[in-house]
Amino acid sequence: MKWKEQLLSLAPYKPGRPIESVKKEYGLEKVVKLASNENPFGTSPKVVAALQSALSSFAIYPDGYATTLRTAVAEFLKMDEEQLIFGNGADNLIQIISRAFLEPGKNTVMASPSFSQYKHNAIIDGAEIREIPLIDGEHDLDAMLEAIDENTAVVWVCSPNNPTGVYITKEKITSFLNKVPKETVVVIDDAYHDYVVADDFYDAVEFVNEYNNLIVLRTFSKIYGIASLRVGYGVAHQDIIRVLEPAREPFNVNTLGQIAAVAALNDQGYVNECRRKNREGMAQFEQFCAEHQLHYFPSQANFILIDFGTSGDEVFQYLLQKGYIVRSGNALGYTTSVRVTVGSEEENNGVIDAMKQYL
Ligand code: PMP
Repeated sequence: MKWKEQLLSLAPYKPGRPIESVKKEYGLEKVVKLASNENPFGTSPKVVAALQSALSSFAIYPDGYATTLRTAVAEFLKMDEEQLIFGNGADNLIQIISRAFLEPGKNTVMASPSFSQYKHNAIIDGAEIREIPLIDGEHDLDAMLEAIDENTAVVWVCSPNNPTGVYITKEKITSFLNKVPKETVVVIDDAYHDYVVADDFYDAVEFVNEYNNLIVLRTFSKIYGIASLRVGYGVAHQDIIRVLEPAREPFNVNTLGQIAAVAALNDQGYVNECRRKNREGMAQFEQFCAEHQLHYFPSQANFILIDFGTSGDEVFQYLLQKGYIVRSGNALGYTTSVRVTVGSEEENNGVIDAMKQYL
């Protein structure tokens, strides 16, 4: 195995405590997971219906080209089918991009803290990692530009950023894209873009026709509510897709995932409703923070990073035994914070009550 020493030093990625293990440990009947930014309103009933009618045989491999899903996404985005690549979640696409473009001798630029998988995969592929600290939860795009040199293969931009939820404005991102050298691939990770309601946001896919070095990543795991089925996709110029495709495992998107993603895409009413409820839920947390003078980053995503001024691990453990799984900031580069996924109104009230008890 390549770079064995680096791999041995790399902790396996553990996204959050499983509900069943928390129930067992604390003898709780009900445990709410607000740790991985999933959709608290679940899966659209239309998606569930589409899946039920597909439950007959599993003997045939999935469509490796994701033909029906590809057509649906291409029509939805008004892009060519050849400008798309599908993945077993956006995680898989991060892996594919890393595998295709990163190697020893190359470097990769990313914000810090940001989504862990950019760095994780860059370590596996042996590239030098250049992490640029966030400023007030936001990417320092000027410093990221300065870090780029002739050996920079990929620069990662996460907007809204995980774990802060802070987004980049249209003006800033276009100015950035104009300045990145054409030889460097820019990845805009759009995992949470469906939640954004800010006026000065942008549709990153629209930039793909203008910037041949851009890949936009999207996922069906968040607002589309099918995280367990693992579907994500990338949008880019055909020349980039051609480089990525050989690094993709042939049957990487399972059949049920493909069926569910088409149905989810066709139910935009559900998506709009979830976006609206998410903003209402976010307001509950913002009010709680204001009442208790707790710092938080203004988030346009479906999670909020709240600073308790004590150990994030301690707050995490306290909430755990109350039946709420959140993410400790210790694992996310914010040691005095926890990141909480916005849940249903009832879930939000419950976790806010527990946080009040902690205070
Ligand atoms: N990018 C970001 C910024 C994320 O937060 C996540 C999920 N945690 C992903 C990508 C991966 O999503 P998926 O479920 O599609 O693999």
